[in-house]
Amino acid sequence: MHRRWGIALILPALLACETVTSLLPAASTPTRPAPVTLPAAYTPTGAPRATATLPATPTASTSLSEHGAALRPEFSADLAARPHLTRYWIEVEVGLDLARARATLDGQARIRYTNPLDDQLEDVVLMLWPNDGQYDAEMTAGPVLVNGESVEPRPEMGGIALRIPLPVSLAPGALVDLSLPFHIQVDGLMTADAPSRFAITQGVLIAPTFYPLLPRLVDDAWQVEPAPPGGDTTNSDAAYYDLQITAPADQALAVSGTVVDTVVHADGRQTVRVVTGPMRDVALALGPLVLEEREVDGVILRAWVLPDHTGDLRRMLDAAETQLVALSEWIGPYPYAELDLVDAPGAFGGIEYPGLVYIGTLGTSWIIEPVVHEVGHQWFYGLIGSDQLEAPWLDEAAASYTEVLYYEAAVGPERGTTLVREFHDLVAGFASRSQTPIGLPVGEYASENEYALIVYAKGALFFDALRRQLGDEVFFRFLQEYFGDYRYGFAEPADFARAAESACRCDLDPVFDLWVEQGGPLPGP
Ligand SMILES: [Zn+2]
Repeated sequence: MHRRWGIALILPALLACETVTSLLPAASTPTRPAPVTLPAAYTPTGAPRATATLPATPTASTSLSEHGAALRPEFSADLAARPHLTRYWIEVEVGLDLARARATLDGQARIRYTNPLDDQLEDVVLMLWPNDGQYDAEMTAGPVLVNGESVEPRPEMGGIALRIPLPVSLAPGALVDLSLPFHIQVDGLMTADAPSRFAITQGVLIAPTFYPLLPRLVDDAWQVEPAPPGGDTTNSDAAYYDLQITAPADQALAVSGTVVDTVVHADGRQTVRVVTGPMRDVALALGPLVLEEREVDGVILRAWVLPDHTGDLRRMLDAAETQLVALSEWIGPYPYAELDLVDAPGAFGGIEYPGLVYIGTLGTSWIIEPVVHEVGHQWFYGLIGSDQLEAPWLDEAAASYTEVLYYEAAVGPERGTTLVREFHDLVAGFASRSQTPIGLPVGEYASENEYALIVYAKGALFFDALRRQLGDEVFFRFLQEYFGDYRYGFAEPADFARAAESACRCDLDPVFDLWVEQGGPLPGP
Protein backbone atom coordinates (compact mmCIF):
# COMPACT_ATOMS: atom_id res chain seq x y z
CA MET A 1 0.00 0.00 0.00
CA HIS A 2 1.14 3.55 -0.48
CA ARG A 3 0.27 6.35 1.92
CA ARG A 4 0.80 10.08 2.12
CA TRP A 5 0.92 12.60 4.90
CA GLY A 6 0.53 16.34 5.24
CA ILE A 7 1.97 18.64 7.88
CA ALA A 8 0.00 17.28 10.78
CA LEU A 9 -2.12 14.67 9.16
CA ILE A 10 -1.19 11.63 7.22
CA LEU A 11 -3.82 11.27 4.57
CA PRO A 12 -4.83 7.77 3.76
CA ALA A 13 -4.13 8.60 0.15
CA LEU A 14 -0.18 9.22 -0.30
CA LEU A 15 2.78 7.94 0.52
CA ALA A 16 1.16 6.12 0.17
CA CYS A 17 -19.11 -19.81 -22.74
CA GLU A 18 -22.35 -20.49 -21.54
CA THR A 19 -21.99 -21.84 -18.07
CA VAL A 20 -18.58 -22.03 -16.56
CA THR A 21 -17.25 -25.47 -17.23
CA SER A 22 -14.61 -27.43 -15.48
CA LEU A 23 -11.03 -26.42 -15.88
CA LEU A 24 -9.83 -29.80 -14.97
CA PRO A 25 -8.93 -32.70 -17.19
CA ALA A 26 -10.91 -35.74 -16.19
CA ALA A 27 -8.48 -38.51 -16.85
CA SER A 28 -5.49 -37.85 -14.64
CA THR A 29 -4.63 -39.83 -11.54
CA PRO A 30 -3.91 -37.71 -8.52
CA THR A 31 -1.66 -38.92 -5.77
CA ARG A 32 -3.75 -38.94 -2.68
CA PRO A 33 -3.21 -40.57 0.70
CA ALA A 34 -6.59 -42.16 1.10
CA PRO A 35 -8.78 -42.66 -1.96
CA VAL A 36 -12.36 -41.69 -1.32
CA THR A 37 -15.54 -42.34 -3.19
CA LEU A 38 -16.45 -39.17 -4.98
CA PRO A 39 -19.98 -38.11 -5.66
CA ALA A 40 -20.62 -37.45 -9.32
CA ALA A 41 -21.96 -34.07 -8.37
CA TYR A 42 -22.60 -32.24 -5.17
CA THR A 43 -25.43 -29.91 -4.45
CA PRO A 44 -24.89 -27.86 -1.35
CA THR A 45 -27.83 -27.67 0.97
CA GLY A 46 -26.72 -24.91 3.30
CA ALA A 47 -25.93 -21.24 2.97
CA PRO A 48 -24.98 -19.36 0.97
CA ARG A 49 -25.62 -20.43 -2.60
CA ALA A 50 -28.62 -22.60 -3.06
CA THR A 51 -28.02 -22.67 -6.80
CA ALA A 52 -24.35 -23.59 -6.75
CA THR A 53 -23.49 -27.06 -7.87
CA LEU A 54 -20.08 -28.43 -7.17
CA PRO A 55 -18.47 -30.97 -9.34
CA ALA A 56 -16.64 -33.74 -7.56
CA THR A 57 -13.37 -33.07 -5.87
CA PRO A 58 -10.95 -32.18 -8.63
CA THR A 59 -8.85 -34.77 -10.31
CA ALA A 60 -6.52 -32.24 -11.76
CA SER A 61 -3.43 -32.95 -13.69
CA THR A 62 -0.33 -32.33 -11.68
CA SER A 63 1.33 -30.95 -14.78
CA LEU A 64 2.47 -27.39 -14.37
CA SER A 65 3.43 -26.83 -17.97
CA GLU A 66 0.51 -24.52 -18.73
CA HIS A 67 1.79 -22.11 -16.10
CA GLY A 68 4.83 -21.53 -18.27
CA ALA A 69 2.78 -18.97 -20.20
CA ALA A 70 2.88 -16.69 -17.14
CA LEU A 71 6.65 -16.66 -16.95
CA ARG A 72 9.31 -15.25 -19.24
CA PRO A 73 10.86 -18.23 -21.07
CA GLU A 74 14.15 -18.04 -19.20
CA PHE A 75 12.28 -18.66 -15.92
CA SER A 76 10.27 -21.71 -17.00
CA ALA A 77 12.49 -23.91 -14.81
CA ASP A 78 11.01 -22.09 -11.79
CA LEU A 79 7.96 -24.35 -12.17
CA ALA A 80 9.69 -27.73 -11.99
CA ALA A 81 11.72 -26.45 -9.03
CA ARG A 82 8.48 -25.78 -7.08
CA PRO A 83 6.20 -28.78 -7.69
CA HIS A 84 4.51 -28.79 -4.28
CA LEU A 85 3.10 -25.30 -4.11
CA THR A 86 -0.64 -25.10 -3.49
CA ARG A 87 -2.82 -25.30 -6.59
CA TYR A 88 -5.94 -23.21 -7.00
CA TRP A 89 -8.52 -23.74 -9.74
CA ILE A 90 -11.05 -20.94 -9.54
CA GLU A 91 -14.09 -20.41 -11.72
CA VAL A 92 -15.89 -17.14 -11.13
CA GLU A 93 -18.60 -15.12 -12.80
CA VAL A 94 -18.42 -11.38 -12.25
CA GLY A 95 -21.52 -9.24 -12.51
CA LEU A 96 -21.28 -5.45 -12.56
CA ASP A 97 -24.44 -3.35 -12.41
CA LEU A 98 -23.21 0.22 -12.49
CA ALA A 99 -26.72 1.71 -12.49
CA ARG A 100 -27.30 0.19 -9.07
CA ALA A 101 -23.67 0.44 -7.96
CA ARG A 102 -23.65 -3.29 -7.34
CA ALA A 103 -21.26 -6.09 -8.17
CA THR A 104 -21.32 -9.82 -7.54
CA LEU A 105 -18.73 -12.54 -7.85
CA ASP A 106 -20.04 -16.10 -7.86
CA GLY A 107 -17.56 -18.87 -8.05
CA GLN A 108 -16.17 -22.21 -7.15
CA ALA A 109 -12.74 -22.77 -5.75
CA ARG A 110 -10.87 -26.02 -5.80
CA ILE A 111 -7.68 -26.08 -3.81
CA ARG A 112 -5.05 -28.80 -3.65
CA TYR A 113 -2.82 -28.46 -0.63
CA THR A 114 0.21 -30.45 0.49
CA ASN A 115 0.91 -30.76 4.23
CA PRO A 116 4.36 -29.17 4.66
CA LEU A 117 4.69 -30.12 8.32
CA ASP A 118 6.48 -33.03 9.95
CA ASP A 119 3.27 -33.63 11.90
CA GLN A 120 -0.26 -34.66 11.02
CA LEU A 121 -2.51 -31.79 10.03
CA GLU A 122 -5.95 -31.88 11.64
CA ASP A 123 -7.58 -28.91 9.97
CA VAL A 124 -7.19 -26.36 7.22
CA VAL A 125 -8.14 -22.68 7.35
CA LEU A 126 -9.37 -20.53 4.49
CA MET A 127 -9.49 -16.76 4.74
CA LEU A 128 -12.44 -14.82 3.31
CA TRP A 129 -10.65 -11.49 3.23
CA PRO A 130 -13.46 -9.52 1.57
CA ASN A 131 -15.22 -9.70 4.98
CA ASP A 132 -12.46 -7.60 6.55
CA GLY A 133 -13.29 -3.98 7.33
CA GLN A 134 -10.91 -2.66 4.66
CA TYR A 135 -13.01 -4.31 1.94
CA ASP A 136 -16.39 -2.87 0.91
CA ALA A 137 -17.76 -6.35 0.34
CA GLU A 138 -19.40 -9.33 1.94
CA MET A 139 -18.31 -12.87 1.22
CA THR A 140 -19.86 -16.23 1.98
CA ALA A 141 -18.35 -19.59 1.17
CA GLY A 142 -19.25 -23.20 1.66
CA PRO A 143 -20.24 -25.87 2.25
CA VAL A 144 -16.90 -27.55 1.78
CA LEU A 145 -15.95 -30.84 0.22
CA VAL A 146 -12.76 -32.36 1.60
CA ASN A 147 -11.57 -35.10 -0.73
CA GLY A 148 -15.16 -35.34 -1.90
CA GLU A 149 -16.64 -35.57 1.59
CA SER A 150 -18.91 -32.86 2.90
CA VAL A 151 -17.52 -31.08 5.95
CA GLU A 152 -19.01 -28.30 8.04
CA PRO A 153 -16.53 -25.43 8.40
CA ARG A 154 -16.42 -23.27 11.50
CA PRO A 155 -16.34 -19.49 10.98
CA GLU A 156 -13.80 -17.57 13.03
CA MET A 157 -12.82 -13.93 13.37
CA GLY A 158 -16.28 -12.67 12.48
CA GLY A 159 -16.42 -14.68 9.27
CA ILE A 160 -13.01 -13.66 7.93
CA ALA A 161 -11.71 -17.19 8.53
CA LEU A 162 -13.23 -20.62 7.96
CA ARG A 163 -11.69 -23.50 9.88
CA ILE A 164 -12.26 -26.81 8.13
CA PRO A 165 -11.74 -29.95 10.21
CA LEU A 166 -10.24 -32.73 8.11
CA PRO A 167 -12.22 -36.00 8.33
CA VAL A 168 -8.92 -37.87 8.23
CA SER A 169 -5.67 -36.43 9.58
CA LEU A 170 -3.38 -35.37 6.77
CA ALA A 171 0.00 -37.06 6.91
CA PRO A 172 3.21 -35.10 6.33
CA GLY A 173 3.67 -34.57 2.60
CA ALA A 174 0.16 -35.80 1.75
CA LEU A 175 -2.33 -33.95 -0.42
CA VAL A 176 -5.83 -32.81 0.37
CA ASP A 177 -8.39 -31.48 -2.10
CA LEU A 178 -10.88 -28.83 -1.01
CA SER A 179 -13.84 -27.65 -3.07
CA LEU A 180 -16.27 -24.93 -2.17
CA PRO A 181 -18.57 -22.37 -3.73
CA PHE A 182 -18.27 -18.72 -2.81
CA HIS A 183 -20.25 -15.55 -3.29
CA ILE A 184 -19.19 -11.93 -2.90
CA GLN A 185 -21.42 -8.90 -3.00
CA VAL A 186 -20.48 -5.25 -3.30
CA ASP A 187 -23.12 -2.59 -2.75
CA GLY A 188 -22.48 1.09 -3.23
CA LEU A 189 -19.64 3.20 -4.49
CA MET A 190 -16.36 3.90 -2.75
CA THR A 191 -16.12 7.51 -1.63
CA ALA A 192 -12.98 9.62 -1.57
CA ASP A 193 -12.95 9.93 2.22
CA ALA A 194 -13.23 6.18 2.79
CA PRO A 195 -10.65 4.35 0.73
CA SER A 196 -11.15 0.64 0.35
CA ARG A 197 -9.41 -2.40 -1.05
CA PHE A 198 -12.42 -4.06 -2.65
CA ALA A 199 -15.01 -1.71 -4.11
CA ILE A 200 -16.58 -0.04 -7.09
CA THR A 201 -14.83 3.24 -7.75
CA GLN A 202 -15.82 5.51 -10.65
CA GLY A 203 -17.26 2.54 -12.51
CA VAL A 204 -14.31 0.23 -11.89
CA LEU A 205 -14.68 -2.87 -9.76
CA ILE A 206 -11.45 -3.57 -7.91
CA ALA A 207 -11.46 -7.10 -6.56
CA PRO A 208 -8.31 -8.49 -4.93
CA THR A 209 -8.24 -11.87 -3.15
CA PHE A 210 -11.74 -12.64 -4.45
CA TYR A 211 -11.55 -16.30 -3.48
CA PRO A 212 -10.90 -18.30 -0.28
CA LEU A 213 -7.19 -17.87 0.44
CA LEU A 214 -5.06 -20.27 2.44
CA PRO A 215 -3.21 -18.40 5.17
CA ARG A 216 0.28 -19.46 6.22
CA LEU A 217 1.35 -21.97 8.79
CA VAL A 218 3.46 -20.19 11.38
CA ASP A 219 5.05 -22.33 14.09
CA ASP A 220 2.87 -25.22 12.89
CA ALA A 221 -0.36 -23.28 13.42
CA TRP A 222 -2.54 -21.47 10.89
CA GLN A 223 -2.00 -17.73 11.06
CA VAL A 224 -5.51 -16.49 11.79
CA GLU A 225 -5.25 -12.93 13.01
CA PRO A 226 -7.10 -9.75 12.19
CA ALA A 227 -5.52 -7.05 10.08
CA PRO A 228 -5.31 -3.72 11.94
CA PRO A 229 -6.68 -0.73 10.02
CA GLY A 230 -4.16 1.10 7.91
CA GLY A 231 -1.92 -1.84 7.11
CA ASP A 232 -2.02 -4.58 4.55
CA THR A 233 -4.11 -7.65 5.30
CA THR A 234 -3.06 -10.91 3.71
CA ASN A 235 -0.22 -13.32 4.36
CA SER A 236 0.04 -16.26 1.99
CA ASP A 237 2.53 -18.50 0.28
CA ALA A 238 3.19 -18.60 -3.44
CA ALA A 239 0.77 -20.90 -5.25
CA TYR A 240 -0.32 -21.79 -8.77
CA TYR A 241 -3.58 -20.16 -9.84
CA ASP A 242 -5.64 -21.37 -12.77
CA LEU A 243 -8.53 -18.93 -13.18
CA GLN A 244 -11.57 -18.99 -15.40
CA ILE A 245 -13.33 -15.63 -15.21
CA THR A 246 -16.62 -14.85 -16.91
CA ALA A 247 -17.56 -11.18 -17.10
CA PRO A 248 -19.42 -8.70 -19.31
CA ALA A 249 -17.55 -8.48 -22.62
CA ASP A 250 -18.16 -4.74 -22.94
CA GLN A 251 -15.97 -4.06 -19.90
CA ALA A 252 -12.20 -4.32 -19.76
CA LEU A 253 -10.90 -7.08 -17.51
CA ALA A 254 -7.43 -6.84 -15.97
CA VAL A 255 -6.11 -9.81 -13.98
CA SER A 256 -2.87 -10.88 -12.31
CA GLY A 257 -1.08 -13.47 -14.43
CA THR A 258 -1.39 -14.16 -18.13
CA VAL A 259 -4.54 -14.70 -20.19
CA VAL A 260 -4.16 -17.91 -22.19
CA ASP A 261 -7.63 -18.09 -23.72
CA THR A 262 -10.61 -15.79 -24.30
CA VAL A 263 -14.05 -16.82 -25.50
CA VAL A 264 -16.67 -14.19 -26.28
CA HIS A 265 -20.19 -15.51 -25.94
CA ALA A 266 -23.27 -14.57 -27.95
CA ASP A 267 -24.97 -13.27 -24.81
CA GLY A 268 -22.48 -10.45 -24.32
CA ARG A 269 -20.22 -12.16 -21.81
CA GLN A 270 -16.64 -13.25 -22.14
CA THR A 271 -14.73 -16.02 -20.42
CA VAL A 272 -11.00 -15.66 -19.99
CA ARG A 273 -8.65 -18.28 -18.69
CA VAL A 274 -5.62 -17.08 -16.75
CA VAL A 275 -2.55 -18.83 -15.35
CA THR A 276 -0.09 -17.23 -12.97
CA GLY A 277 2.99 -19.32 -12.32
CA PRO A 278 4.03 -19.12 -8.66
CA MET A 279 2.15 -16.15 -7.15
CA ARG A 280 1.06 -15.53 -3.56
CA ASP A 281 -2.26 -13.83 -4.36
CA VAL A 282 -4.21 -12.55 -7.35
CA ALA A 283 -6.40 -9.55 -8.08
CA LEU A 284 -8.68 -8.37 -10.85
CA ALA A 285 -10.36 -5.20 -12.07
CA LEU A 286 -13.37 -4.78 -14.34
CA GLY A 287 -14.58 -1.55 -15.84
CA PRO A 288 -14.58 0.92 -18.72
CA LEU A 289 -10.80 1.04 -18.85
CA VAL A 290 -8.58 2.05 -21.75
CA LEU A 291 -5.52 -0.14 -22.27
CA GLU A 292 -2.07 0.87 -23.41
CA GLU A 293 0.79 -1.58 -23.27
CA ARG A 294 4.46 -1.81 -24.06
CA GLU A 295 7.12 -4.48 -23.89
CA VAL A 296 10.06 -3.92 -21.56
CA ASP A 297 12.85 -6.49 -21.71
CA GLY A 298 10.43 -9.35 -22.33
CA VAL A 299 7.78 -8.14 -19.86
CA ILE A 300 4.45 -6.78 -21.11
CA LEU A 301 3.59 -3.68 -19.08
CA ARG A 302 -0.14 -2.97 -19.26
CA ALA A 303 -1.68 0.28 -18.06
CA TRP A 304 -5.48 0.34 -17.71
CA VAL A 305 -7.02 3.77 -17.10
CA LEU A 306 -10.39 5.47 -17.14
CA PRO A 307 -11.01 7.55 -20.30
CA ASP A 308 -10.59 10.76 -18.25
CA HIS A 309 -7.07 9.69 -17.28
CA THR A 310 -5.55 8.79 -20.66
CA GLY A 311 -3.42 11.92 -20.33
CA ASP A 312 -1.56 10.15 -17.50
CA LEU A 313 -0.82 6.99 -19.47
CA ARG A 314 2.61 7.95 -20.68
CA ARG A 315 3.89 9.17 -17.30
CA MET A 316 2.58 6.03 -15.68
CA LEU A 317 4.16 3.68 -18.20
CA ASP A 318 7.43 5.60 -18.35
CA ALA A 319 7.81 5.47 -14.56
CA ALA A 320 6.91 1.79 -14.38
CA GLU A 321 9.32 0.96 -17.20
CA THR A 322 12.22 2.79 -15.56
CA GLN A 323 11.48 1.12 -12.22
CA LEU A 324 11.14 -2.34 -13.78
CA VAL A 325 14.48 -2.01 -15.54
CA ALA A 326 16.26 -0.50 -12.51
CA LEU A 327 15.05 -3.04 -9.95
CA SER A 328 15.64 -5.96 -12.34
CA GLU A 329 19.24 -4.86 -12.63
CA TRP A 330 19.89 -3.86 -9.02
CA ILE A 331 17.90 -6.52 -7.16
CA GLY A 332 16.97 -9.34 -9.52
CA PRO A 333 14.97 -10.08 -12.63
CA TYR A 334 11.17 -9.86 -12.73
CA PRO A 335 10.25 -13.38 -13.82
CA TYR A 336 6.64 -12.92 -14.90
CA ALA A 337 5.58 -12.22 -18.46
CA GLU A 338 3.24 -9.39 -17.51
CA LEU A 339 2.62 -6.59 -15.04
CA ASP A 340 -0.68 -4.70 -14.91
CA LEU A 341 -1.15 -1.15 -13.57
CA VAL A 342 -4.80 -0.37 -12.94
CA ASP A 343 -6.50 2.96 -12.37
CA ALA A 344 -8.46 2.69 -9.10
CA PRO A 345 -9.40 6.23 -8.03
CA GLY A 346 -9.18 6.69 -4.28
CA ALA A 347 -7.73 3.26 -3.48
CA PHE A 348 -5.24 4.81 -1.07
CA GLY A 349 -2.14 6.02 -2.97
CA GLY A 350 -2.11 2.58 -4.48
CA ILE A 351 -2.34 -1.07 -3.44
CA GLU A 352 0.02 -3.84 -4.45
CA TYR A 353 -0.90 -7.33 -5.55
CA PRO A 354 1.34 -9.77 -7.38
CA GLY A 355 1.32 -9.05 -11.08
CA LEU A 356 -1.28 -6.28 -10.71
CA VAL A 357 -1.23 -3.01 -8.82
CA TYR A 358 -3.99 -0.50 -8.24
CA ILE A 359 -3.02 3.16 -8.56
CA GLY A 360 -5.33 5.49 -6.66
CA THR A 361 -4.03 8.89 -7.72
CA LEU A 362 -4.44 9.25 -11.48
CA GLY A 363 -5.93 12.59 -12.39
CA THR A 364 -3.87 14.28 -9.67
CA SER A 365 -0.30 15.59 -9.86
CA TRP A 366 0.91 12.78 -7.61
CA ILE A 367 1.42 9.77 -9.84
CA ILE A 368 5.09 8.81 -10.09
CA GLU A 369 5.70 7.81 -6.48
CA PRO A 370 2.62 5.61 -6.11
CA VAL A 371 3.44 3.88 -9.40
CA VAL A 372 7.08 3.17 -8.62
CA HIS A 373 6.28 2.25 -5.00
CA GLU A 374 3.73 -0.35 -6.09
CA VAL A 375 6.04 -1.66 -8.81
CA GLY A 376 8.73 -1.94 -6.10
CA HIS A 377 6.35 -4.18 -4.15
CA GLN A 378 6.62 -6.78 -6.92
CA TRP A 379 10.05 -7.48 -5.44
CA PHE A 380 9.26 -6.75 -1.78
CA TYR A 381 6.02 -8.60 -0.96
CA GLY A 382 5.25 -10.19 -4.36
CA LEU A 383 8.44 -12.14 -4.98
CA ILE A 384 10.10 -11.89 -1.55
CA GLY A 385 7.17 -12.61 0.74
CA SER A 386 7.14 -11.23 4.28
CA ASP A 387 4.65 -10.90 7.09
CA GLN A 388 2.48 -7.88 6.32
CA LEU A 389 0.97 -7.86 9.81
CA GLU A 390 3.92 -8.71 12.06
CA ALA A 391 6.87 -7.21 10.16
CA PRO A 392 5.45 -4.67 7.71
CA TRP A 393 8.79 -2.88 7.40
CA LEU A 394 10.21 -5.76 5.39
CA ASP A 395 8.06 -4.82 2.43
CA GLU A 396 6.88 -1.25 3.10
CA ALA A 397 10.20 0.29 4.10
CA ALA A 398 11.79 -1.49 1.16
CA ALA A 399 9.10 -0.33 -1.28
CA SER A 400 9.52 3.25 -0.03
CA TYR A 401 13.25 2.96 -0.59
CA THR A 402 12.64 1.77 -4.14
CA GLU A 403 11.20 5.25 -4.73
CA VAL A 404 14.70 6.55 -4.01
CA LEU A 405 16.18 3.97 -6.36
CA TYR A 406 13.71 5.01 -9.04
CA TYR A 407 14.79 8.65 -8.84
CA GLU A 408 18.44 7.63 -9.03
CA ALA A 409 17.70 5.70 -12.21
CA ALA A 410 15.32 8.21 -13.77
CA VAL A 411 17.03 11.48 -12.86
CA GLY A 412 20.31 10.84 -11.06
CA PRO A 413 21.81 10.23 -7.61
CA GLU A 414 21.14 13.79 -6.45
CA ARG A 415 17.41 13.39 -6.93
CA GLY A 416 17.51 10.20 -4.88
CA THR A 417 19.34 12.07 -2.14
CA THR A 418 16.70 14.78 -2.24
CA LEU A 419 13.96 12.26 -1.55
CA VAL A 420 15.99 10.77 1.32
CA ARG A 421 16.29 14.26 2.79
CA GLU A 422 12.55 14.78 2.43
CA PHE A 423 11.94 11.55 4.31
CA HIS A 424 14.40 12.67 6.98
CA ASP A 425 12.85 16.10 7.45
CA LEU A 426 9.42 14.56 7.64
CA VAL A 427 10.39 12.10 10.38
CA ALA A 428 12.51 14.68 12.23
CA GLY A 429 9.47 16.97 12.22
CA PHE A 430 7.67 14.53 14.49
CA ALA A 431 10.16 14.70 17.36
CA SER A 432 8.06 12.70 19.76
CA ARG A 433 7.69 9.87 17.30
CA SER A 434 11.03 9.82 15.57
CA GLN A 435 12.68 7.40 18.01
CA THR A 436 10.06 4.71 17.43
CA PRO A 437 11.58 1.59 15.84
CA ILE A 438 10.49 0.52 12.36
CA GLY A 439 10.20 -3.15 13.34
CA LEU A 440 6.86 -3.20 15.19
CA PRO A 441 3.77 -5.08 14.02
CA VAL A 442 1.15 -2.88 12.34
CA GLY A 443 -1.09 -3.06 15.39
CA GLU A 444 1.57 -1.88 17.85
CA TYR A 445 1.99 1.60 16.44
CA ALA A 446 0.10 4.28 18.34
CA SER A 447 -1.93 5.29 15.31
CA GLU A 448 -2.22 4.75 11.58
CA ASN A 449 -0.32 8.00 11.13
CA GLU A 450 2.58 6.82 13.29
CA TYR A 451 2.63 3.50 11.45
CA ALA A 452 2.85 5.27 8.10
CA LEU A 453 5.45 7.78 9.30
CA ILE A 454 7.75 5.25 10.92
CA VAL A 455 7.43 2.20 8.69
CA TYR A 456 7.35 4.05 5.36
CA ALA A 457 9.47 7.17 5.84
CA LYS A 458 11.82 6.19 8.68
CA GLY A 459 11.96 2.73 7.13
CA ALA A 460 13.28 4.19 3.88
CA LEU A 461 15.90 6.05 5.95
CA PHE A 462 16.96 2.74 7.49
CA PHE A 463 17.62 1.31 4.02
CA ASP A 464 19.63 4.42 3.20
CA ALA A 465 21.63 4.07 6.44
CA LEU A 466 22.29 0.40 5.73
CA ARG A 467 23.44 1.25 2.22
CA ARG A 468 25.84 3.88 3.52
CA GLN A 469 27.23 1.48 6.11
CA LEU A 470 27.78 -1.34 3.59
CA GLY A 471 28.76 0.70 0.57
CA ASP A 472 26.99 0.39 -2.76
CA GLU A 473 28.76 -2.74 -3.96
CA VAL A 474 28.01 -4.78 -0.83
CA PHE A 475 24.53 -3.29 -0.38
CA PHE A 476 23.37 -4.31 -3.83
CA ARG A 477 25.08 -7.70 -3.58
CA PHE A 478 23.16 -8.20 -0.33
CA LEU A 479 19.86 -7.30 -2.01
CA GLN A 480 20.61 -9.65 -4.90
CA GLU A 481 21.50 -12.54 -2.60
CA TYR A 482 18.46 -11.88 -0.42
CA PHE A 483 16.28 -11.86 -3.53
CA GLY A 484 17.89 -15.04 -4.84
CA ASP A 485 17.35 -16.88 -1.56
CA TYR A 486 13.75 -15.79 -0.90
CA ARG A 487 12.05 -15.12 -4.23
CA TYR A 488 8.70 -16.96 -4.30
CA GLY A 489 9.43 -17.65 -0.63
CA PHE A 490 8.96 -15.89 2.66
CA ALA A 491 11.56 -13.97 4.67
CA GLU A 492 11.59 -13.14 8.36
CA PRO A 493 13.40 -10.10 9.76
CA ALA A 494 16.20 -12.42 10.96
CA ASP A 495 16.62 -13.70 7.39
CA PHE A 496 17.02 -10.15 6.15
CA ALA A 497 19.60 -9.36 8.84
CA ARG A 498 21.47 -12.62 8.24
CA ALA A 499 21.66 -11.93 4.50
CA ALA A 500 23.00 -8.42 5.13
CA GLU A 501 25.61 -9.63 7.62
CA SER A 502 26.62 -12.42 5.29
CA ALA A 503 27.20 -9.95 2.47
CA CYS A 504 29.25 -7.53 4.56
CA ARG A 505 30.88 -10.13 6.84
CA CYS A 506 30.24 -7.69 9.62
CA ASP A 507 28.16 -7.33 12.77
CA LEU A 508 25.07 -5.26 12.09
CA ASP A 509 23.40 -5.75 15.48
CA PRO A 510 23.91 -2.11 16.50
CA VAL A 511 22.31 -0.89 13.26
CA PHE A 512 19.34 -3.23 13.55
CA ASP A 513 18.92 -2.38 17.24
CA LEU A 514 18.89 1.35 16.56
CA TRP A 515 16.50 1.31 13.63
CA VAL A 516 14.49 -1.91 13.70
CA GLU A 517 14.35 -3.46 17.16
CA GLN A 518 14.86 -0.88 19.90
CA GLY A 519 14.64 2.48 18.20
CA GLY A 520 16.57 5.55 19.26
CA PRO A 521 17.61 9.02 18.19
CA LEU A 522 17.22 9.64 14.48
CA PRO A 523 20.68 9.89 12.91
CA GLY A 524 21.44 12.90 10.74
CA PRO A 525 20.64 12.89 7.02
ZN1 LIG B 1 3.49 -0.07 0.06
